[in-house]
Amino acid sequence: MTDRYVYDLSEGSAEMKPLLGGKGAGVAEMMRVGVPVPDGFTITTQACVETMNRKGEWPDGLDEQAWAGLQRLEERTGRKLGDPGKPLLVSVRSGAIISMPGMMDTILNLGISDETVPAIARESGNERFAWDCYRRFIQMYGEVVEGIDAHVYEDALTALKESKGVESDTDLSADDLKGLVDTFKKLSNEQLGGNWTTDPREQLMRAVDAVFRSWLNPRAFVYRKANKISDDLGTAVNVMQMVFGNRGDDSATGVCFTRNPATGANELYGEFLQNAQGEDVVAGIRTPKPLAQMQEILPDAYEQLTATMKKMEAHYRDMQDMEFTVENGKLYLLQTRNGKRTAAAALKVARDLVDEGVISKEEALMRIEPGQLDQLLHEAIDPDHSEQPVAEGLPASPGAAVGEAVFDADIAAERGAAGDRVVLIRFETTPDDIHGVLQSQGVLTAHGGMTSHAAVVARGMGKPCVAGARGIKIDYEARTLTVGDTVIEEGDPITLDGSTGEVFAAALPLIPPQINADFQEVLSWADETRRLGVWANADNATDAAKARELGAEGIGLCRTEHMFFGADRLPAMHEMITAETPEERKTAVDKILPMQQEDFEGVFTAMKGLPVTVRLLDPPLHEFLPSLVEQSLKVQEMELTSADPVHTDKERRLLAQVKKLHEQNPMLGTRGVRLAMLYPEIPDMQARAIIRAALAVLEREGETVDLHIMIPLVFTPVELATQRKIVEDCLAEEFDRAGRRIDVEIGTMIELPRAALTADRIAEVADFFSFGTNDLTQTTLGISRDDAENGFLTEYLRTKVLKQNPFASIDVDGVGQLVSGAVEKGRAAKSSLGLGVCGEHGGDPDSVHFFNQVGLDYVSCSPFRVPIARFAAAQAVIEQRDGAK
Ligand code: PEP
Ligand code: MG
Repeated sequence: MTDRYVYDLSEGSAEMKPLLGGKGAGVAEMMRVGVPVPDGFTITTQACVETMNRKGEWPDGLDEQAWAGLQRLEERTGRKLGDPGKPLLVSVRSGAIISMPGMMDTILNLGISDETVPAIARESGNERFAWDCYRRFIQMYGEVVEGIDAHVYEDALTALKESKGVESDTDLSADDLKGLVDTFKKLSNEQLGGNWTTDPREQLMRAVDAVFRSWLNPRAFVYRKANKISDDLGTAVNVMQMVFGNRGDDSATGVCFTRNPATGANELYGEFLQNAQGEDVVAGIRTPKPLAQMQEILPDAYEQLTATMKKMEAHYRDMQDMEFTVENGKLYLLQTRNGKRTAAAALKVARDLVDEGVISKEEALMRIEPGQLDQLLHEAIDPDHSEQPVAEGLPASPGAAVGEAVFDADIAAERGAAGDRVVLIRFETTPDDIHGVLQSQGVLTAHGGMTSHAAVVARGMGKPCVAGARGIKIDYEARTLTVGDTVIEEGDPITLDGSTGEVFAAALPLIPPQINADFQEVLSWADETRRLGVWANADNATDAAKARELGAEGIGLCRTEHMFFGADRLPAMHEMITAETPEERKTAVDKILPMQQEDFEGVFTAMKGLPVTVRLLDPPLHEFLPSLVEQSLKVQEMELTSADPVHTDKERRLLAQVKKLHEQNPMLGTRGVRLAMLYPEIPDMQARAIIRAALAVLEREGETVDLHIMIPLVFTPVELATQRKIVEDCLAEEFDRAGRRIDVEIGTMIELPRAALTADRIAEVADFFSFGTNDLTQTTLGISRDDAENGFLTEYLRTKVLKQNPFASIDVDGVGQLVSGAVEKGRAAKSSLGLGVCGEHGGDPDSVHFFNQVGLDYVSCSPFRVPIARFAAAQAVIEQRDGAK
């Protein structure tokens, strides 16, 4: 028995999305509930996957099943593919499980040929329409299926328009188009060395194959990577009877959303083009009209459309994004799916649907994509500026972007990846530009509407986008944008406001993001649901205040090393490092103590009432020293120029120390607790600075923090016990001195496999563990975190040796095992043991799910990821509970 690869639309339903893809399942569902859709059949995603696995060869049975599907469609419609009397024309469309707008291929008007074109002219009563469909088909089929360069066709079309002295395609007559079809056929045949096929049945099979293949095209890979969609899913192929939006002025095609996808407002939103085919709207080739105008032009279809929109939103209980065509006044829906939306819209729609009683709070939470919230946390243009916009376009994706103007997606991709802030400017973007969009601060296009590809993709990525800016001229050769008297050249500063559509020829100052009432409300639901605490990593008072504002319930990691890098501190640091006796070292650290205390007071004031986890010094000492080469040269020069002997001697001592401290692998060398073991004066000083700061804040503010002191990079309980004693002795002395005491927890980071494996023994001397998953990943996988992204790891990700970057999302199978094992052992040894994570993974939604599952108490992440982690933690609870059912 072979598998079933083909389903008639009438056999499908929304639940069959994994098999039929989003579009196939969506259209089938519409058919099921009585919405008018064109008839057709779907070839499953499984057929695509098996074809890919068989290197392009179709699995057994697919061929027969596809022909049978076509035959059934022919019977139902009373038409036949290639039949000169009653020809069937079909569209062949991709449809992945997770929608990837514009990333894969589509062929329209298949079935049109020399034999069928007269019947199409006759039936439509419009010869021009028939030839227009034919020439469009040849171009689309030639490009998509046969890989013929678009220029071959475009040049011929331009030449024809020039020879006829007309500007627009619509000015070409039926005869002109007939001549163009001949030219196109000749050119196509030439391009293929005489192998151009004209048989619709063969064309159909080749078109299906081309859609399968388009799953593997480069822009689809880039899109999937950016959106974390697996490359293994494959696409379904939908073969549907054509309906024509370009059949005259009572025909149209359009895209609509049941709510505003930019703001979430409950209002009709969409665009349409009269007398046009669907691809014209999505590709942004002609600028469409707002949907409201359809009411006057096509009132019946408009009424039917608005009623259908309401029906489908109620049916799916979510905002829908729909494609429709009106053929001679009759409405057909071609697609419906949950609409992509900005984060602001996602929150508003979720909140409104709960208020409207359509969904529960938990359902609303599950609909938020935590990563997307990032865009709300982004900056906007400081309203306090006097710059006038030089152009205005559609506010296609909110947020502000400042950067240097760039006119080429490759350059944008390259410069953006190198860390430059660039703004990509294109006449219109096509899916091939996606790599450039990804690396830009924002996108500006001269052409295209709110639902053009550029707008949809930018919104999904949270990139500010201004689309269809009228009056701007882009010269790709000269790499300039001209608008009125203003010329912006490549590299010139430009600012976009994706929320208003304004474009400025200057770099404007930005202000921090605003978090509105919808955000707060939905976040409060997340907080009611989540079990995990969400803390932040913050090293100074400003970050701590930001973290608290964004809802952090504590600080899980205050790295103290940055406090040593300040220009006022480095000399004392050098003194400490070059000290030859403990007494000398003590004198040097005593100079640093008041500075450290001041820093801690800032952080503690911002966080009073909440837990703060201060980590003692972690990096290798050499990070505070000049490089060996630099220092050697300096000393050499001082000796040659007979510089001041006292000064020279000091530099010589520093050089000797640099040599002594030099390590081949400093990340695995004298860092973390190992430093503190060699130089106990350091933890002594730090403990005193911390406790004095906490007491000072208590004195001043009447309240202080719930203090946690954390020892890094421990692998044996002996290290922790030794450090614990140093810290406790200091605390006792300081408390005696101050005449008051506070509770302090002393714990350790779990950053080394040995620490994880012996967590039970370490727990005996620890009040808490905080998993340092950055180092734990480094040491478990044996990949240097500093070098990872520059080297083979990038290649491993590209070639799928690894599915995810283990430094961004926790390696559940490996590092995850060490974490869960350590949690179990630690808790078994000490039930009161506190457990958290403070590596970068603490803010990654997938990793948050894992940490929830293994039973940590909290995650700690950078301040801007706190709201994301709050959502992810709530979703983790709901998913875990529903998964367990
Ligand atoms: C860690 O290793 O995960 C950690 C938080 O410490 P750092 O990144 O400072 O090494
Ligand atoms: Mg670490």
